[in-house]
Amino acid sequence: RAKEFGRDRIEGYESGMIERAARRRQIEVELAEALAQDAFELHFQPFYALPARRLIGFEALLRWRNPALGMVSPAEFVPISEANGLIVDIGAWVLEEACRQLARWPVHLHVAVNASAVQLRSADFVGQVADALRRHGVEARRLEVELTETAMVEDGRLLSEVLKGLRRLGVRIAMDDFGTGYSSLAHLRDFELDRIKIDRSFIDTDVADLGSRAVIRAVTSLAQDLNILTIGEGVETEEQFQRLVECGCDVGQGYLLGRPMDAAAASRLISLQMFDDDLGAEQREASR
Ligand code: C2E
Ligand code: MG
Ligand code: MG
Ligand code: MG
Repeated sequence: RAKEFGRDRIEGYESGMIERAARRRQIEVELAEALAQDAFELHFQPFYALPARRLIGFEALLRWRNPALGMVSPAEFVPISEANGLIVDIGAWVLEEACRQLARWPVHLHVAVNASAVQLRSADFVGQVADALRRHGVEARRLEVELTETAMVEDGRLLSEVLKGLRRLGVRIAMDDFGTGYSSLAHLRDFELDRIKIDRSFIDTDVADLGSRAVIRAVTSLAQDLNILTIGEGVETEEQFQRLVECGCDVGQGYLLGRPMDAAAASRLISLQMFDDDLGAEQREASR
């Protein structure tokens, strides 16, 4: 019996592996077609300045709908496209699309795009960014590039050249998911970052959790001294929002404040915010 049981387990394990490998292969095949078939879409998740909750920009998040596979999460297909190099072309499309949207939106709003280390190491990333900005007539300061700490660990020298090039253009640089992975304070010193996104794992905790509060407070205060803006990601409750405000965090992002939405919905959100602003200005005028 024990032997049979063992064999079942091994077969179960192997068939799981085979299924995963098959899905991965299917994703690879379908991904290769996706760009040509126009199957990608950018969604936009709003950033709000704290404590006032003013809309200041959006993070562009890649969406892929495939007839056979349905919606596939970037958390699944981005690593696969990094492994086979497709991320370079996909990333170029993301940049182009983000700049196209930026050109349609008011100049006080910015858009952050996620970039993979593979993309940054590819030929002339800085030139690609400069071209996209120029083609759409967008000011460089309205574009941000989000990188993960993992990207910063690999190939630090080359990366530091790329980041210098981006900074010369005027593009802002954000460290994504800060506090997970290979957190190193040396990155903060060496890479002259403009923004730190404090990882969701510190934000979406019980607010009674003093450990997370201490981390948020320490990061915001360190960032302030380094002249870096802090963004709290993954804010899901009012309490978590209040904690970020109390800890002196500059910007909030998360389902409480706004989910990722398509470009049309983002444009409507912008109009609403501008309408509110006008109304506020009129009321201030009237009460004088
Ligand atoms: P990320 O850059 O850290 O993006 C944040 C992720 O958290 C997004 O998932 C977003 O939808 C989700 N999120 C936002 N607020 C909340 C919240 O309050 N609660 C929870 N539970 N989740 C929240 P998404 O869109 O599935 O993206 C996953 C990851 O895929 C991103 O993590 C990023 O690393 C990568 N990714 C997405 N778009 C791109 C892209 O255009 N290029 C590259 N290279 N990577 C991308
Ligand atoms: Mg990001
Ligand atoms: Mg993040
Ligand atoms: Mg993440």
